[in-house]
Amino acid sequence: MNELRRDPLLGRWVVVFKESLSPEEYVPPRETPVKGSCVICSQADTEEEVLGIRDEQGTPLVRVLRTDGSIFSSDVQLERRGVGMYDMMNSFGVSEVVLETPEHNLTPEDMGPEQMKRVIDAYYTRTLELERDDRIRYVMIYKNCGALSGDLCGHSHSFITATPIIPKRIKEELDGAKGYYGYKERCIFCDMMREEQRYGKRIILQTEHFIAYCPFATRFPFEIWILPRRHNCYFKEITEEERADLGFVMTDVIKRLRRVLNDPPYNFVFHSAPSKIPRRAQWHTLGEDFHWHIEIMPRVRRLTGFELGSGMYTLSTSPEDAAKFLKEVSYED
Ligand SMILES: [Zn+2]
Ligand SMILES: [Zn+2]
Ligand SMILES: [Zn+2]
Repeated sequence: MNELRRDPLLGRWVVVFKESLSPEEYVPPRETPVKGSCVICSQADTEEEVLGIRDEQGTPLVRVLRTDGSIFSSDVQLERRGVGMYDMMNSFGVSEVVLETPEHNLTPEDMGPEQMKRVIDAYYTRTLELERDDRIRYVMIYKNCGALSGDLCGHSHSFITATPIIPKRIKEELDGAKGYYGYKERCIFCDMMREEQRYGKRIILQTEHFIAYCPFATRFPFEIWILPRRHNCYFKEITEEERADLGFVMTDVIKRLRRVLNDPPYNFVFHSAPSKIPRRAQWHTLGEDFHWHIEIMPRVRRLTGFELGSGMYTLSTSPEDAAKFLKEVSYED
């Protein structure tokens, strides 16, 4: 019999299959974009560079470009208005693209932990800078890799968006964490981490500063979360030493995932607390109740009407089995 599990943070139920599918049973649709069509390569010289991390010869290793107008525009005044019963605002916000490697066919994980750290350094520097604008309430960092994830060009890149609203998905996590804290006076993420360490079977990797594991009840088979072991609600307060450690952890985990599922499409997202500057009073326990983290979601199955209609997800490989596959795989040739 299958098992229903409840995600303690969001209260969402998921169906975990009794018999896990092995990695080979997933056949994600593949499309390899052609080099000539790469928008990243073709835009690299035309968009405004807001950050460049270069080697001693001046060769750019990681670049961040402003892509105004793609989703949000930064050159407009924030305007909110009501139309009848509906709320609207203009698309004020910032969209930036992070070119994670200098060449089209390289990935940061293949270049190694130092390159991954440069990418994380770019996220960190831009987050600090973008949050200085007091109209901005949330900075989100995410990546699409592979056609099914929304990646159109095959060039290793990620995005930073800064918005005057808190996205619904973040709001749900903040509410879940706040509710748990109100009840237990403990951080739910720290509690989950302790429980995972006690149980052990869902952990893929632990380092001095981070833990990577397959959570108890997630949306996607082989989904991985990375949590800092030090309680902190803000990604922007990560230290230099922690960024180096995270560079290693992300390199390792992504290589494991790619090997186990044969280069699957995936997305990752950084979840951090919103900027506290606006509406300070609303978040008085935020520092204690929220804990920043990274969610890596392989896209090896398409969502069906069941998921879309019910908001319940099916895990065709249990998190325990997924963690075992990920932990045991060797990715060095
Ligand atoms: Zn390219
Ligand atoms: Zn915590
Ligand atoms: Zn999250």
